[in-house]
Amino acid sequence: MAYDRDNIFAKILRGEIPCKKLYEDEHALAFPDINPQARQHVLVIPKGEYVSWADFAARASEQEIAGLVRAVGKVAKAMGLEDSGYRLLANHGPDSHQEVPHLHVHIFGGQKLGRMLAVTRED
Ligand code: AMP
Repeated sequence: MAYDRDNIFAKILRGEIPCKKLYEDEHALAFPDINPQARQHVLVIPKGEYVSWADFAARASEQEIAGLVRAVGKVAKAMGLEDSGYRLLANHGPDSHQEVPHLHVHIFGGQKLGRMLAVTRED
């Protein structure tokens, strides 16, 4: 899948759409999800143009990969979730209902999150 430079997170990274920056460094940006699915719901995105985890793993530099992983850890800690716990989620493709084709990690927390998936297996 080719990277679409008109996706909404690309626009946020270019400053064309506002977001409340919770964390930013050379490699990553974090901001609250506009439609939160938990009491605390934050998105962490790499600054580079990557569609998916596989795309990121294949093309990103070691520094970019370390940068995103560290950013997720720092943001989760800054959200105060180290003791209560949290969930990380990265959607890719139609089965996951990925809406925005720029790699992002969801951080959910601040409440009991239920079981791992909201659906049961169909097969
Ligand atoms: P996904 O389904 O994993 O692609 O998730 C995309 C997420 O981006 C959804 O949870 C949306 O609510 C969120 N979202 C879309 N537009 C914005 C925006 N402008 N600012 C913050 N979050 C957004």
